[in-house]
Amino acid sequence: ASAPAQPAELDASKVTITLAKELKAIPPATELKFGQVMSDHMMTVSYDPLNGWSAPEIKPYGPLSLDPASSCFQYATNVFEGMKAYIGPDGKARLFRPNKNMDRMTMSAGRVALPPFDTAELLKLIRRLVAIEQRWIPTQKGHSLYIRPTIIGTRSSLGVAASDHAMLYVICSPTGPYFASGARPVALLGIGESVRSWPGGTGGYKLALNYAPTFKPQQYAAKLGYDQCLWLLGDKITEAGAMNFFVVVRRTDGDLDVYTPPLDGTILPGVTRDSILALASAHPSRTLLPGLPETLRLHTTERELTMTELNTWAQNGSLLEAFGVGTAVIVAAVGRIGHEGKDINLPTYEGGLGPVGRALYDRISDIQEGKFEWEDWS
Ligand code: PMP
Repeated sequence: ASAPAQPAELDASKVTITLAKELKAIPPATELKFGQVMSDHMMTVSYDPLNGWSAPEIKPYGPLSLDPASSCFQYATNVFEGMKAYIGPDGKARLFRPNKNMDRMTMSAGRVALPPFDTAELLKLIRRLVAIEQRWIPTQKGHSLYIRPTIIGTRSSLGVAASDHAMLYVICSPTGPYFASGARPVALLGIGESVRSWPGGTGGYKLALNYAPTFKPQQYAAKLGYDQCLWLLGDKITEAGAMNFFVVVRRTDGDLDVYTPPLDGTILPGVTRDSILALASAHPSRTLLPGLPETLRLHTTERELTMTELNTWAQNGSLLEAFGVGTAVIVAAVGRIGHEGKDINLPTYEGGLGPVGRALYDRISDIQEGKFEWEDWS
């Protein structure tokens, strides 16, 4: 047969579905550790330059068979996303701002020259998979089904070049709240000797190659009694572990400044970060943040943050809150930041989070779990 004239686009309507003959037992929600248990099915689809995207398959979860010379093993052509499905009070599964993950995934794939795909079609396939896996979405508060879309380069050649073959797959894992101990504030260690990202680098993309070099500094931080690294570029703060970083600072007029570093290419454009900026900027005009006085004004700014400033604010008592934000944690309070042999200690609050972090956490989780409607976020 002759090759098709045009390589095919990703097309969700071509999906074939093979259901698992035996379904796994779902562990009790209280025993869920992040990312350890996978659901019954996965979605896979592959790309080659002649045929384009194949017919997608939803099939029983299982190992992939790949050539050892594959680009992903040799040259790290690996891109991933992290998003969650929640069960609403109506019993329906919901995704939180999934278009943001789809857009970020194509940006990331493009950065390592993996083939483009139709994000609307991928989202249809994810919805289909989640619908099949609905029994895996835990219904308890703070629980969800974590979804990991992945695209890898499968060109089987050791030549150092773009991978013109690829595989896209989606797997799912039920999860509980990220910090099993509840909202214990995390301790961060400022790390400047190893950098996670740099101007002109890849820190603004969700590439697997950004993560492997963080494991050793992370072990070092853990050995010194810190939970996560605070990634620095010189004096400048970029991110906290795999979370975007925010501070709340009291102004001389009594209002609060909410600061986070700008998307200058060294910072991952987090979906949670974007959501927090939107909610905090809208307060108090739409009373979006429960528990915060309507008279309280938040001034939300994306701007550079330095360790020097953090120290100054901590010393003059204006540093009220610091938190890390991301899909896994939503909002995680920071209690302590180690830097150059000293610790900056943040004010402590009952339940861990300060008032601004708490209000953001509550509102975002309510939107995710379908208890509060906001725009088209859920
Ligand atoms: N920064 C890094 C480095 C991350 O890996 C993540 C997790 N995706 C985030 C920030 C938070 O992004 P999001 O809110 O989209 O989960």
